[in-house]
Amino acid sequence: MLTDLADVLRSAGLTVVERPGWRSRGHGPMSGVRCVVLHHTAGPATGEAPSLGVVENGRPDLAGPLAQLVLGRSGTWYVVAAGLCYHTGATFEPWQGNTWAVGIEAEATGRDPWPPVQYAGYVRGARALADHYGVPYSRVLGHREIARPLGRKSDPNFDLATFRAALTSQENTMTTPAGLWTAPIRNFNGDVVAAQQILVGTEARVADVQRQLAAARAEIATLTAKVEGISPGPVTVTNPPVDLRALAATVADVLAERLRG
Ligand SMILES: [Zn+2]
Repeated sequence: MLTDLADVLRSAGLTVVERPGWRSRGHGPMSGVRCVVLHHTAGPATGEAPSLGVVENGRPDLAGPLAQLVLGRSGTWYVVAAGLCYHTGATFEPWQGNTWAVGIEAEATGRDPWPPVQYAGYVRGARALADHYGVPYSRVLGHREIARPLGRKSDPNFDLATFRAALTSQENTMTTPAGLWTAPIRNFNGDVVAAQQILVGTEARVADVQRQLAAARAEIATLTAKVEGISPGPVTVTNPPVDLRALAATVADVLAERLRG
């Protein structure tokens, strides 16, 4: 059990809240730590850590704990579990999976800008964990980088190469300008909008396309079932025999009429 999690983060100068029972919480012990996996909760738009309860106790379809750690919007770390947690799903490599990966769920919608204090805390905490467990910074990975198949997950929504570069450089601040999301840029129609509007619009369109795809798949399934249900049976041709002479005579009459006219 990773019963040193709270001390590791506190030693890095971070504010830590230890959840009751965290030292014995988990789906059994982990095999070790070979990876740190970064997530965002895609939770409510406001509040310090409204997803904490879900991470600790789970969802109807997945038993908690869902990550060892939750990072609140204030930059405070909540230590939820010392044991194995269900946060990775299927991964490309065994060492990226739940038995080897410490999971961090940062409270964020995935659309709104990250509070600088939270992002800085994310970098500082991830660095402390990697250093303590001997995990190379190249193995501090975003959920979207390890989730198989590729594209199954989109979290976290910040640039991960930048995040890892910050681990190395000892910089804790986000290197993208704070005003990035609200900066005016031109969209495909030539209208001036904020960057985050384009992101939200794109997500809405992706959702639309996914709905259309699902509808098309359902239609194809229905048609396929119908086609498979059709039994050809014996085919009977009931056309009467054609009198070619009579047909030729009629055509000749029509042509003659046209030519005269
Ligand atoms: Zn995730």
